[in-house]
Amino acid sequence: MTSLNCEAQLRLPNLPNYIDQITDRLQSFDADVEQEARGITFRFPFGHAFFDMEPGGLVMRATADDRDGLARIKDLLATAVQVYAKEDDPRIDWIGDLSNDTQLAQFREMTVLRVTDLTLHMRRIRLAGNDLGRFGKFGGMHIRVLLPTKAVPDPIWPTLGGNGLPAWPSDDRRPVARVYTIRSLDIDAGFMDVDFLVHEGESVGAAWALQASPGQKVGIMGPVGRPVRQADWYVLGADETGLPAIGRLLETLPAGTKGVAFVEIAEQSERQPIDNATQIELHWLERNGTAAGTDERLARQILSVEWPQDCSTFGWFAAEASAAKIVRDRWRGTMGLGRDQTLAAAYWRRGAAGLMAG
Ligand SMILES: Cc1cc2nc3c(=O)[nH]c(=O)nc-3n(C[C@H](O)[C@H](O)[C@H](O)COP(=O)(O)OP(=O)(O)OC[C@H]3O[C@@H](n4cnc5c(N)ncnc54)[C@H](O)[C@@H]3O)c2cc1C
Repeated sequence: MTSLNCEAQLRLPNLPNYIDQITDRLQSFDADVEQEARGITFRFPFGHAFFDMEPGGLVMRATADDRDGLARIKDLLATAVQVYAKEDDPRIDWIGDLSNDTQLAQFREMTVLRVTDLTLHMRRIRLAGNDLGRFGKFGGMHIRVLLPTKAVPDPIWPTLGGNGLPAWPSDDRRPVARVYTIRSLDIDAGFMDVDFLVHEGESVGAAWALQASPGQKVGIMGPVGRPVRQADWYVLGADETGLPAIGRLLETLPAGTKGVAFVEIAEQSERQPIDNATQIELHWLERNGTAAGTDERLARQILSVEWPQDCSTFGWFAAEASAAKIVRDRWRGTMGLGRDQTLAAAYWRRGAAGLMAG
């Protein structure tokens, strides 16, 4: 099969300051990394990339067998550079295969098919769209949902920019993004289910979910997020926002997988049935009147779990930002575990709108 190739030449005078962070981030997307004198090779399951380090700059080369793979690698590289090379204000122009493409590989327009209330505060919304195969690839479980708002009721969807990243319309037509988990995906039937927590306060995602009805259109982009590594044993922890991901993991991890999962919910009536296919024990923690994101009970519970020493292990945590920080500091700091064994993410922050959606 002929492979697709492209490259981008970047001026990055301060590259030595942040190359390790870029490498670390790319490695966490399931890449095998090989460092040589002149550069770094990243072998992803869907293609590979090479960083040719030059004085004052970097040439990024990407190769994949298909369009989806090349688009994914370009997006990962360009995003990593944008995140860590801010001080150099990088300009990325890809040349080579697909560089004149304006169709954004990771975007789909979706139509609401069905709206179901799982509990008082959790709504499952079935979204239908074409060609959903890529949302089962790359190990990412999440999507950016692009939503209309009162200010922008009729948004224009993004296209592909020359830098390999999305090009957005002007603010008066730009949809608002929020991050959600693909709770389940049926590629053949052409739909996915997304569970929206209907939380208190002014919002975009929760407000949209509350009024959603069949026939409405939204955009999605993805998949996003680092893959959860395969392991024999897991410790999983989440509040309601990470419950869709835990539900999906418990339903899809291999049957012999062991471990423990804690899910924090407002009260008992927010429990939902999960078809747990694993030997991971699921426990519910109820706040019973305490406001979401204000206490450390979930984080402390997760940190009290002892990790076995005789098998492969993975720690996964998703909740409000301060709880995620407590868990991340312990796992990555005190326990010295790497990104290959842990993922502790802030899924929302009290008082902040649209965390992680940018
Ligand atoms: C990778 C990832 C996957 C996620 N998956 C899901 C998912 O499947 N389902 C889901 O419901 N959420 C999920 N989230 C969390 C969701 O993106 C955030 O809760 C987001 O803020 C919701 O957007 P919003 O427009 O409703 O509220 P925003 O406009 O972002 O926030 C408005 C106000 O509401 C508050 N707020 C936000 N979330 C909560 C909450 N959970 N409880 C109480 N107050 C809150 C904010 O602090 C702010 O004050 C995920 C987040 C990430 C990063």
